[in-house]
Amino acid sequence: MKFFYCLCLSFLFTQIFAQSSRQIASDTAGIYFSKTITEKDLQRHLFKLASAEMEGRKTATKGQKKAALYLAQAMKRIGLKPANPKNKKNPYLQPFKVMISGWHYSLYRSTVESRHEKLPIAETENVVGWIEGTDKKDEFIIISGHYDHEGVQEGKIYFGADDNASGISTILEIAEAFMLAQRAGFSPRRSIVFLLVSAEEVGLLGSKYYADFEPLFPLEKTIVNLNIDMIGRVDENYKKKNIENYVYLIGSDRISTELDSLQRAVNDTYTKIILDYTHNDPLHPEMLYYRSDHYNFAKKNIPIIFYFSGLHADYHQPTDTPEKIRYAKMSKIGQLIFLTAWQIANREQRLRIDKAEKK
Ligand SMILES: [Zn+2]
Repeated sequence: MKFFYCLCLSFLFTQIFAQSSRQIASDTAGIYFSKTITEKDLQRHLFKLASAEMEGRKTATKGQKKAALYLAQAMKRIGLKPANPKNKKNPYLQPFKVMISGWHYSLYRSTVESRHEKLPIAETENVVGWIEGTDKKDEFIIISGHYDHEGVQEGKIYFGADDNASGISTILEIAEAFMLAQRAGFSPRRSIVFLLVSAEEVGLLGSKYYADFEPLFPLEKTIVNLNIDMIGRVDENYKKKNIENYVYLIGSDRISTELDSLQRAVNDTYTKIILDYTHNDPLHPEMLYYRSDHYNFAKKNIPIIFYFSGLHADYHQPTDTPEKIRYAKMSKIGQLIFLTAWQIANREQRLRIDKAEKK
């Protein structure tokens, strides 16, 4: 009996030791691969996306489609799996239709709105790739951002470097870091979806299409959405203080308090960025919680974090250009998001939802 007891105990210790050394190995790998998110790589993507040849990436224009192909190509090169095999032409693209009435765009669904057929209808595309997890591969983490912008107006190109070539470049770098890790034997346990949406500037339509009509992965198994929109600049408030190392977090504690504590813990341990909750205040006049793509997931009670570095004088102006971006700051925020996704992907339990989204 005593011998059996000892045996059990030593087995238990071996298990605990194996588990914690696995945990340490995984955490160490996370830090190692987060360092592959570099200023140089971010710059390369950003200058391309915010270049004149992309013509401001206006929804359903030549420039937006060119950007979509560039992004699909980048996903393929990185080694992501295409998320929409139904689309034989290009399985990284998720096409959808919009109806255009002057400045107003809406989703076009042929059955419901055929009575409006006289209005112009155009096609645009989300770009979606993913990494398959291991033992928890049926649960999904979505990392999202919009790549469309304001196009060309009165002969001027709206380059949209911060809005949102900054977020998209960061997502490509995060995806690459996860792929490098997977190739080195550190596959995420949960699957990770990289959702680059179109038609955000005209009413969050790309994410609405995905979340309301055509989720490529089941929403009830989608455990979090990390959304990135404008993380490349320093706003007036922080300029005055001469501080660059900050990010506004919005929504992180609204649906899952566990998500917010995980986010803080990751930052305290690794990246040590100032996490600013000013815009998280439901009464903040800018109402940013409702103004980017994460909202289409939050309204379905999926925990979200919206990462943002603030408004500035070049916001929605032709002067939002790539040489004004703070790349060191961006790579730090990219590392924070990567490490957050890494922890969510590899932990034992899925995030607990303890608050309902108020409608
Ligand atoms: Zn934006």
